[in-house]
Amino acid sequence: MAGLVIKPRSRIFHGHDWVYASEIKKSFGNPQPGEVISLKDFKDKPLGSAIYNPRSQIVARRFSRRKQELDREFFLRRLKLAFSLRERLPLDVSLCRLAWSESDGLPGLIIDRYGPHLVMQTLTLAMDQRIELIIEALRELLSPDSIVIRNDSPMRKAEGLEPASFVAHGENPDPVSLEAGGLRFEANLLGGQKTGLYLDQLDSYERVASLAEGKRVLDCFSNQGGFGLACARAGAASVTCVDISSEAVSAVRNNARLNSLEVDAVEANAFDYLKSCEETFDLIILDPPSFTRSKKALGDAMRGYKEIHLRALKLLNHDGYLATFSCSHHVNRELFLSNLRDAAVDTRRTLRLVESYCQRADHPILPTIPETEYLKGFCFQLLPGR
Ligand code: SAH
Repeated sequence: MAGLVIKPRSRIFHGHDWVYASEIKKSFGNPQPGEVISLKDFKDKPLGSAIYNPRSQIVARRFSRRKQELDREFFLRRLKLAFSLRERLPLDVSLCRLAWSESDGLPGLIIDRYGPHLVMQTLTLAMDQRIELIIEALRELLSPDSIVIRNDSPMRKAEGLEPASFVAHGENPDPVSLEAGGLRFEANLLGGQKTGLYLDQLDSYERVASLAEGKRVLDCFSNQGGFGLACARAGAASVTCVDISSEAVSAVRNNARLNSLEVDAVEANAFDYLKSCEETFDLIILDPPSFTRSKKALGDAMRGYKEIHLRALKLLNHDGYLATFSCSHHVNRELFLSNLRDAAVDTRRTLRLVESYCQRADHPILPTIPETEYLKGFCFQLLPGR
């Protein structure tokens, strides 16, 4: 088997599974893009099997510490394991992320389940080349009504892959009716803005909503309204959802109707909305998209967070709550917290931490692969009269 010899002190010696170009000492046997290769240390000791793509910054991603092919048996075994691990979690496995890339030993493969429908993403060349094999394994294990391929993630570009979305098995399932946390949602798995619901936030909806009774709520970057609708259901006095996308705003209105809830959905840039808003609120939720996908743009991202934090704090009634989230891996917990601290100082507010949030357990974090941790959130209460 062709492969790579890895330089000493590379991240793979610290439990990571990735190999960057700068960590390669030499290659042997002429490895080909998309192939399974073997990794060795500088003393010729095997480190395991990896998928290879010299076009990507991450040249190799290890998926096994042994010699292993990416064949049918492998996919059946790994997928079965990923599913059975989810079944032990306290969550509804009919609406969950069934397999999540590195965290499930399937680098670049993501599978979400929406009842009888599956949505699959292949974000690495090797997984993309094996779509048929994976579909076969999924059909054998889960007999889904449909499998939708949603390969429009910008991450594919880094692997030299074109965007492509299509139905790979069954009929186009759109629109799909779902139930999450006692709320009904309608989502478009093939045609929607994203692959369906934000599964990583499903737990946070209810936890944030537990603070909402009798409150005036503002849900910024609301997408299809997960937070806002949960707050309305929990007895909020009023709920305003703000999103820049008209598709998201129609989805909020549609979902509100489905649940017989009253929600005001506004199509606007949340930065502008927060700036010119003349009302005040008792609970403000900020769940923006990732402001940065790279370390380079971190400064801009932090300025973005600072601006929405400052403006939100100014719109909060005394003893109001601010629930704020960041889904960028580069913005770690400490950095995010320090951003809030700065905003509190600048607005002369005293904040009390009420709760912390993270990605739901069907998006498991591997401590040796820090990139698997990305979603973090805090809820603060403004201390009155201080
Ligand atoms: N809270 C949502 C997920 C938010 S995803 C949920 O749990 O479902 C981020 C959302 O922010 C997307 O819907 C996107 O359309 C919206 N968005 C991006 N930039 C925006 C901006 N400047 N102002 C308002 N919304 C924005």
